Amino acid sequence: MEIEAGQTTFEDLGLSEPVLQAVRDLGFEKPTPIQAKTIPLVLDGRDVIGASQTGTGKTAAFGLPTFTKLGQHGKFRCLVLEPTRELAAQVEEQFNLYGKHLDLKIALLHGGVGYKKQLDQLKAGVDVVIATPGRLLDHFQRKALHFRDIQFLILDEVDRMLDMGFLPDVRRIVSQCKKKRQTLFFSATMPGAIETFAKWALDNPEEISIGRRASVAETVTHGFFPVAYEQRDDLLLALLKKTDYHSVMIFTRTKAEANSITALLNKEGGFKVTPMHSDIPQKDRTKALKGFREGTFDVIVATDLAARGLDISNVTHVINYRVPENAEDYVHRIGRTGRAEQEGDAFTLLAGDEVDHALAIERYIGQKVERKKLEGFDYIYTAMLDDEAPTGDALSRRLGTLKRRRSFGRRRR
Ligand code: ADP
Ligand code: MG
Repeated sequence: MEIEAGQTTFEDLGLSEPVLQAVRDLGFEKPTPIQAKTIPLVLDGRDVIGASQTGTGKTAAFGLPTFTKLGQHGKFRCLVLEPTRELAAQVEEQFNLYGKHLDLKIALLHGGVGYKKQLDQLKAGVDVVIATPGRLLDHFQRKALHFRDIQFLILDEVDRMLDMGFLPDVRRIVSQCKKKRQTLFFSATMPGAIETFAKWALDNPEEISIGRRASVAETVTHGFFPVAYEQRDDLLLALLKKTDYHSVMIFTRTKAEANSITALLNKEGGFKVTPMHSDIPQKDRTKALKGFREGTFDVIVATDLAARGLDISNVTHVINYRVPENAEDYVHRIGRTGRAEQEGDAFTLLAGDEVDHALAIERYIGQKVERKKLEGFDYIYTAMLDDEAPTGDALSRRLGTLKRRRSFGRRRR
C-alpha cells in the first residue's frame, strides 16, 4: 500500500503514546512523505535506505520509530553516526525533544570538546549515542563503550560522511556491531559510490526515495549572476544591499575566502556577520550558530562544512560567492533556505572560470538555472552577460576576458 503524506496522520503510523505526545508538543501536524513511508517500516523491523532532500524531516523519520522501539532506559542500544559536530548536536537536540516523555539517556559524542563529560555520561549508562566517527572510535579504543548491544544503527547524511573520508572509520564501527541489528541509512543524495557500501552494511533494505534525488526545494527561487571575476566582491555587496533579507548564508569555497568575505563585510559596515568553518574553535562555532538563530548575527559566511543538513530556520537568502565545484553541494547549500516550505532565495555568483561547474549543476538538477542581472549594478564587460552558452564571437570575447585577467596577474583557480 502506498502511504501518501497528506492523508496519513502520525497516529496512523504505529508510534507509541509517549512518542506521539512528543510529536504533539513539537507541533508537527502531519508526517512528511519520508516519515510516512519510513516509520512503519522501521517499526516493522526492516532495514531502510531513505533518500530525500535536505529539510524533509529525516531526523524524525528515524528517531520517532526508534524511540518507540527502545521504550524505556536499558543498555546502549542505538547509535547514530553524523559527519559533523554541528549535525550531531542538532540531532541530539531533536532527540531530546522526541524522548521528552521517555526516560531514555542520550549522549552526544564529538570531537573538539573535552572527554570528561562524555565519559561521565557513558559511565552513568546511556541508551542512545549520537556521534561523529572519530571521537566515537576514540572512546571505543579507550574501552569507554562497546557496540555489542546495538540494535539500531543509524547512518545519517551518508553522502557527506563518505565525502569527508569517513568511510574507513564507519566501516570499522559497523563491523563492531552484531549482525542481528536494524540498520537505517539516510542521505540527501545517493551517488553510486555509496550503494556498494549500503549493500554491505544493510540487510535486504527497503529503499525509500522521495522526489527527484537531486531536486531543489520548490520554495526556493534561484539564479546565477554572471559577473567578471574581479567584480565579485562589488556584486556581493550590491546584492546584499539591494536585498531585503532577514538572514543570509554566504558560501565560500575555502576557509581563507570565508575569512576575507567576513572582513570585507565588517569593513563595509552595517552587517552583523560571523564566519563558520572548520578552523573556528568549536565553542565559537556553537556561538555563531546560536547567534545566527537568535539574530545576533544576520550574515554567516560558511564553507561547505555548514552546508549539509544544518537546520537553521528563517534563512531567507543563500549566496554562493563561488559556484560549488560539486553539483551536489549546490543542492545542499541552497537547501539552507526554503526549509519547511518557507520561501527563500538563492543567488550564485558566476565568474568566467566557473561555467563548467554551472553547467554540471544544471545537468545534475535537470533544470536550467535562470541567468540574472542586478538592476543598476555597474557591470564591467563579461561575455557571459550576453549569452550563457558562449559560442563563436561570445566565446572568443570570453577568452579575451580571461587573457586580460591573466595579464593583470590575478590568481585563477
Ligand atoms: P533533514 O534531515 O531531512 O534535512 P530535519 O530532520 O533536520 O531534515 O528536519 C527539518 C526541519 O523540519 C526541522 O526543523 C524539523 O523540526 C522540521 N520537521 C520535521 N518533521 C516535521 C513535520 N512532520 N512537520 C513539521 N515540521 C517538521
Ligand atoms: Mg538530516
